[in-house]
Amino acid sequence: MQAVLNKIKALLGPDSVVDGARAAAELGQCTTGAPRSIAAVVYPSDSAQVVSIVKLANEYGAPLYPVSTGHNWGYGTTPITDGCIVLNLSRLNRIVAPVDPVTGLVTIEPGVSQGLLADYLERQGLPFMVPTSGAGPSASIVGNALERGFGITPITDHFMAVTGIEAVLPDGSIYRSPHVVLGASSGGNAFKWGVGPYTDGLFTQGGFGVVTKMTLALARRPESIKAFVCRIATESALEKIVSASQNIVQRLPGVVGGINVM
Ligand SMILES: Cc1cc2nc3c(=O)[nH]c(=O)nc-3n(C[C@H](O)[C@H](O)[C@H](O)COP(=O)(O)OP(=O)(O)OC[C@H]3O[C@@H](n4cnc5c(N)ncnc54)[C@H](O)[C@@H]3O)c2cc1C
Repeated sequence: MQAVLNKIKALLGPDSVVDGARAAAELGQCTTGAPRSIAAVVYPSDSAQVVSIVKLANEYGAPLYPVSTGHNWGYGTTPITDGCIVLNLSRLNRIVAPVDPVTGLVTIEPGVSQGLLADYLERQGLPFMVPTSGAGPSASIVGNALERGFGITPITDHFMAVTGIEAVLPDGSIYRSPHVVLGASSGGNAFKWGVGPYTDGLFTQGGFGVVTKMTLALARRPESIKAFVCRIATESALEKIVSASQNIVQRLPGVVGGINVM
């Protein structure tokens, strides 16, 4: 393990590799309460460095666990086994292809958070919405979509909005969505299902690769948005709240974007 970490330090610089007690403090605990021992947390700055790290991990047989922003609160962000190197992609935080003003398609890196995209849309004056979850501004959009998260904007199912993926496979080669491989670089990313068997889904809730870019469709912002917060007084009311929420969402499509019961 030390040999591969030395190689990664030489590649990224010592400031981009955290090991020992600091690694454990950073990602050894999560809300599930199951502690993990972590070999190190490494912070690449671009996808070329991700490819090099994956190749090194392969060469040395070191287990890698990718996170986007590493805030998988509630569902567990610690790696599935002890002794992993956590590949933290939060420094890959570029908006790779700007929002298309007609389709709302945008291509982002894993470190782009809800807050970062919100600031970008506001600065550019673009009438689109961030696929928001209750996790807050610092959570990754890519991380949440890969978990098949749900939100409160009109495209509630976040992976449904994903139309293209670029990922680093375990041997260091690059996966791209089929239409893009066939040469339809911008138009190819507009059609989620591509051609042939659907393969982008392999990267959700699984460990088949490290996703370094994602194209997704943003919902257009309506003229007016109102958010309501209601508190449930007793736990016994929960069942009624769930069926009332289903009723509202089914009867008022397009008016009620979503209801988040937390
Ligand atoms: C108060 C609160 C409210 C919440 N509300 C919601 C909600 O409304 N809807 C909802 O869906 N969730 C909700 N969550 C959960 C939260 O949104 C998710 O846990 C969060 O999106 C994941 O954190 P992250 O984006 O930092 O992902 P990460 O922790 O970085 O990653 C999540 C998982 O995806 C994998 N992964 C991440 N990035 C990559 C990558 N680039 N390549 C390959 N695999 C990757 C990781 O291995 C990990 O298993 C809530 C959490 C809290 C605390």
